[in-house]
Amino acid sequence: MSNTNKRYPKAVVFDLDYTLWPCWCDTHIYTPIKSLNNSTIIDSNKFKLSFYKDVEKIILELIENNIIIIGASRTATPSVAKKILSLLEIGDEPAINHFDSLQWGQGTKINHIRKAAKELDIVDELKNGEFILFDDESRNKDVESINVHFAHIKDESRGLTMEIFNKELKKWHEKYK
Ligand SMILES: [Mg+2]
Repeated sequence: MSNTNKRYPKAVVFDLDYTLWPCWCDTHIYTPIKSLNNSTIIDSNKFKLSFYKDVEKIILELIENNIIIIGASRTATPSVAKKILSLLEIGDEPAINHFDSLQWGQGTKINHIRKAAKELDIVDELKNGEFILFDDESRNKDVESINVHFAHIKDESRGLTMEIFNKELKKWHEKYK
């Protein structure tokens, strides 16, 4: 399939819990965690976790198109989230290596995104609507006040899918072209 007509923003921001993987890593995961194979981790309760099925394909597509990838999570346990991202692989590399910036902390994701934009020196691109946030929590829609397109992940059994990804890229392009 050709992607010639597909438009991408400068940066794509991903929430983690229930966007990239089906759990809350601060309440469902019991440390220590180990790698079971390159796509699955297992915690000390024998709970197994992988990315939602289309996540690897989506991240690889963004890398191929030189899109900046940012993680933004309110989790109370960033260390667990980082460990999961270090153990799960994307394109034969720890997933964490593919994130240009990871932002943590409670409160509005406006702060996460502003910090990442500053850190990566893409503040103007943020102002110009060159960011999309994929997130399962509708309260994070407040990022639209700083010109970020909010892409809502509604079904926690499926998480981020290729269908949602493509649909939201189109919506973003319609809004900002
Ligand atoms: Mg979430």
